[in-house]
Amino acid sequence: MRGIFLHNNVKIIQSDKTSGVSNGKYESLNLGLHVEDNPSHVNKNREIFASFFGVNTSELCFMEQTHSNNAVLIKTNDTPAADALITQEKNLVLCIMIADCVPVILFDIKNSAIAAIHAGRKGTFSDIITNTINAMAYNFKTKTENIKAFIGASIKSCCYEVKNEVAKEAKEKFAFALEKRNERYFLNLQDIIKSQLSKNGVNDILQDDTCTCCDKRYFSYRRDGICGRFAVGVKLNC
Ligand SMILES: [Zn+2]
Repeated sequence: MRGIFLHNNVKIIQSDKTSGVSNGKYESLNLGLHVEDNPSHVNKNREIFASFFGVNTSELCFMEQTHSNNAVLIKTNDTPAADALITQEKNLVLCIMIADCVPVILFDIKNSAIAAIHAGRKGTFSDIITNTINAMAYNFKTKTENIKAFIGASIKSCCYEVKNEVAKEAKEKFAFALEKRNERYFLNLQDIIKSQLSKNGVNDILQDDTCTCCDKRYFSYRRDGICGRFAVGVKLNC
């Protein structure tokens, strides 16, 4: 578990594999109910994750993540099919489940609003970052100069090899983020996300440089295939 300091008025926690009760490939703090782990273990792990925030599991909001560019406003606990959640509620913890995709947190320091974004390759290519910023502007009158951003542990270009058709699309849209080594293509999703934030006027960005595929403290789908999910959660302070 790692606390991330972005601002006094917001609490961000990034879990890792430790301090949970799951076994085998899910050892031990697997927070994903969709990966065929024992659900009673996952629910216990979610209680442990909630305790990091000092809340009950009923206050944790997960998403049914679908690699879309869908950003959803929530006011009560719900599990929408979405890849970004936004809220101004102080009693909700917005959670992103991760095993290589990029977790992104946004915090509007003026209007006390938060966003939790699951930015995988597809969501990033279809600009879920801009959609989420627009949803915050529409619902909370967020101005981008007041947003602080956090980019969490995720697969980096050392390990994130992509197929030729993805490389072709990246070459057209995000050539700066494509790396070629030994005739193989690798993508830097974090650089794409930073460019999308910056294009919108968000320049106050904190990044965790950990590569989940290199660092065995984290679950990595690319490294392990069947595995658990860690999470990044965000909550406004009361
Ligand atoms: Zn790596």
